[in-house]
Amino acid sequence: MGNLYDVIILGGGPAGLTAGIYLSRAKIKTLIVNEGIIGGQMSLTHEIANYPGIESLSGYMLSVNMQKQAESFGCKIISNVKITKYNLKNDIKSITVNEKEEYKSKAVIIASGGKSRELGVLGEKEFAGRGVSYCATCDGDFFQDKEIIVVGGGNSALEEAVALTQYASKVTVVHEFGYFQAYKHAIEQATNHPKIDFILNSTVSAFYGSQSLEKVTVKNLKTGEEKDINIDGVFIFIGYIPKTEPFAEILSLNEGGEIIIDKNMMTDISGVFAAGDCITKRFRQITTAVADGTVAALNAIEFIQK
Ligand SMILES: Cc1cc2nc3c(=O)[nH]c(=O)nc-3n(C[C@H](O)[C@H](O)[C@H](O)COP(=O)(O)OP(=O)(O)OC[C@H]3O[C@@H](n4cnc5c(N)ncnc54)[C@H](O)[C@@H]3O)c2cc1C
Repeated sequence: MGNLYDVIILGGGPAGLTAGIYLSRAKIKTLIVNEGIIGGQMSLTHEIANYPGIESLSGYMLSVNMQKQAESFGCKIISNVKITKYNLKNDIKSITVNEKEEYKSKAVIIASGGKSRELGVLGEKEFAGRGVSYCATCDGDFFQDKEIIVVGGGNSALEEAVALTQYASKVTVVHEFGYFQAYKHAIEQATNHPKIDFILNSTVSAFYGSQSLEKVTVKNLKTGEEKDINIDGVFIFIGYIPKTEPFAEILSLNEGGEIIIDKNMMTDISGVFAAGDCITKRFRQITTAVADGTVAALNAIEFIQK
């Protein structure tokens, strides 16, 4: 029964690794199966300056430290694999990895995270973390007294545009329509702000630079006219995609694809918990993922001990 665990955690980002630390330290036999690189989105972050107790550290190093800490308590971690089958409904749950290895457990914690929606245009990937950002809370501070662009016209884009004015000298909101899809209050706050300008019916169609972002092309979607703008940073807020497709047929998700959980972080399947960026929530940070992972792990311990 080498492949039978008490808890299997699906995802090795901060939520999954934290759950792994708590469970293994409580002598619960735990396996983390991670489809990507260890640390998830955290590992892609150039500099983390808002994790309490750590002034500044690369996301990669924080990921390695969390992995080591989990493993030091006996947590087994399998990374960079593909889960090809899920069987979560029965009392004993099982998953199949790479179509051959089957792992079983009494409880499962889904910590599959997600990703920000991208524009999908030239240079966007190349300058991600070097001028292109998807998180104002994470990166706003790097743009003190600089001019930046915010792409988007929903609540997040307008609220974050206002928040970014505390750092940036000027914020230009580029939005694809001539109107905003946001609450009245958010629209009023942004449109009345002296530091915020708007370019409507337009999008950013290319990013250019050398070491870091220097220039973008802004395209008018009505006339097709393009113009280049010198800029230090671009924040993109055009939606968020939780990585929950494999669970769409199995669990209750909201209309945004986020997993619905109860106060114990349990989904609508007994013994299946969820934590981190994949669940229904507003603020997606390492600290909130770590907190979710803790709560899910403590509830999973109670569940299997019953
Ligand atoms: C560029 C960038 C910069 C950021 N900067 C900061 C910052 O400075 N400070 C901060 O607090 N937050 C920051 N964030 C946000 C933070 O990284 C996330 O909120 C956090 O990583 C979410 O943790 P998570 O464990 O829920 O998910 P993730 O970090 O997304 O990890 C989930 C992991 O699960 C894997 N996975 C997906 N599906 C499955 C599956 N079915 N089975 C198994 N594994 C699966 C994924 O490949 C991934 O490895 C940043 C995010 C980005 C993208």
